[in-house]
Amino acid sequence: MATEAFDDRDGYIWMDGAFTPWRDAKVHVLTHAMHYASCVFEGERAYGGKIFESLRHSQRLAKSAETMGFDLPISVEELEGVKAEALKRSGLDSAYIRAFAWRGSEMMGVSAQANTIHVAVAVWPWGDYFADKMQGIRMSHAQWRRPAPDTAPFHAKAAGLYMICTLSKHSAEREGYADALMLDYRGHVAETTGANVFFLQDGALHTPTPDCFLNGITRQTTIKLARARNIEVIERTIMPEELGSFSECFITGSAAEITPVSEIAGIHYKPGAVSEALVNDYSDLVFGRIAMPA
Ligand code: PMP
Repeated sequence: MATEAFDDRDGYIWMDGAFTPWRDAKVHVLTHAMHYASCVFEGERAYGGKIFESLRHSQRLAKSAETMGFDLPISVEELEGVKAEALKRSGLDSAYIRAFAWRGSEMMGVSAQANTIHVAVAVWPWGDYFADKMQGIRMSHAQWRRPAPDTAPFHAKAAGLYMICTLSKHSAEREGYADALMLDYRGHVAETTGANVFFLQDGALHTPTPDCFLNGITRQTTIKLARARNIEVIERTIMPEELGSFSECFITGSAAEITPVSEIAGIHYKPGAVSEALVNDYSDLVFGRIAMPA
């Protein structure tokens, strides 16, 4: 589904120290990041003019950069200032914020020791990640699995880890699904192509232990919100054979927020009271109507 192309918009993108007219924020085709996936990024949302959990996202970007061996030319504090300024300049109250860092063009091989590290922040308007969110999305099973912790740096939000996500999301969409559920290298339920997953069983929430995939900021927030409602949250190994034993299912992510799931490849769930309560709590929280639970 084509929208307004991302390289042809009005506004400014902060890039390597300056706000650059949107259409001029370019890199050369011989950029290491494009050939070897040497890029880390964040996806964040602002609500009512304020970036939700901004500092945690900036800290995660710095950590991802460190994992990739990037010497970031900007501190977390400076990045916080840039993101706030970029949001202000966008004139948007509610927006998506993309902060990212990548290796440049000095060397073009597996080795890129001398490459400059670049940083940019772009802000754009973005509504719900999924259409008809509250009806629940339909998911297929992904054909790709999350890699083992000793085969990829899974804590990093790094571009290379998304190769199997795009492949899985595309084949799900080709079959008429909105997204795909990914298993891990052991065959345990892991996450979706861009969000974490929760299931309801007998009043308690069950969610996979994040030992080979991103422990999302929204996932951690959702656990706090659930516990504040005295809903038990159990982090454990979940096998695909168990999927039929759950009554509700939802996914969590900065882009997806909390989105109910109505089906995983023929197994049906009812977006019910618990999903709805947490969707509402999350909305109250991001708009500052309630405080972050302890
Ligand atoms: N898993 C993957 C693969 C993701 O891309 C995301 C989105 N960043 C998440 C989980 C959820 O992370 P967060 O809640 O921090 O956005």
